[in-house]
Amino acid sequence: LTVSGCANQKTLKVGIESDFRPFTYTEGGENKGFEVELWEEIAKKGNIKYELVPMEMGNMSTALKSGEVDLVIAGMTVNKARKDNLAFSDPYFQTGLVMLTAQDNTDITGKDKLKDKTVATRIGSTAYTYAGMLPKLKEVRGYPDINRAYEDLANKKVDCVIFDERNARDYIQTKGQGKIKIVGDVLNKESYAIATKKRNKYIGNINSAIEQVSKNGTYETLYMKWFGS
Ligand code: GLN
Repeated sequence: LTVSGCANQKTLKVGIESDFRPFTYTEGGENKGFEVELWEEIAKKGNIKYELVPMEMGNMSTALKSGEVDLVIAGMTVNKARKDNLAFSDPYFQTGLVMLTAQDNTDITGKDKLKDKTVATRIGSTAYTYAGMLPKLKEVRGYPDINRAYEDLANKKVDCVIFDERNARDYIQTKGQGKIKIVGDVLNKESYAIATKKRNKYIGNINSAIEQVSKNGTYETLYMKWFGS
């Protein structure tokens, strides 16, 4: 008679993003970013075996519900609508949405200056929902890939982009340098958490691992590496 215990623990499939810098992205065939490294530490503490599955943000909820992936760590903002369908860990990152314009734009100084303007953002994101609630816009244009939205802003095909602050800053510091800028304050505060399906077995273990990596200084080290100075 054999008694099976933790030895046959399942390898979890963890959905990440192929292009959501600097949190999770794929470069030269390698998965990189703050969240990739943070997850590695969480998994160590929680004794979790896993494999990473790079995917598109728009497919994540479906992939979680169908069991194609067990968890998602990809800058997923916690909100009420998503909580109806998914379960979330404790948040591990505080951030928000910002507004961007072309570098030389002077007339769009805040969200009250968007009358008859075209706003670009990522389809299915919290910014897409936010932009959809702004009054009097000409259009909200949804892109599967946010980098195309930043490019269209730089080329003045759209008037404004609304998206996650840290991703926007990363683009401005790299490809968008001298072409686009952030305007005004944070529009909407948000926090990121790990998502999984409802009635899962993982969240308790993951939350205690998140607490441990916060308390032992690991979180701070990673934060400084990716966002510090
Ligand atoms: N934080 C945003 C959201 O949850 C965008 C996430 C992303 O593009 N990966 O919708």
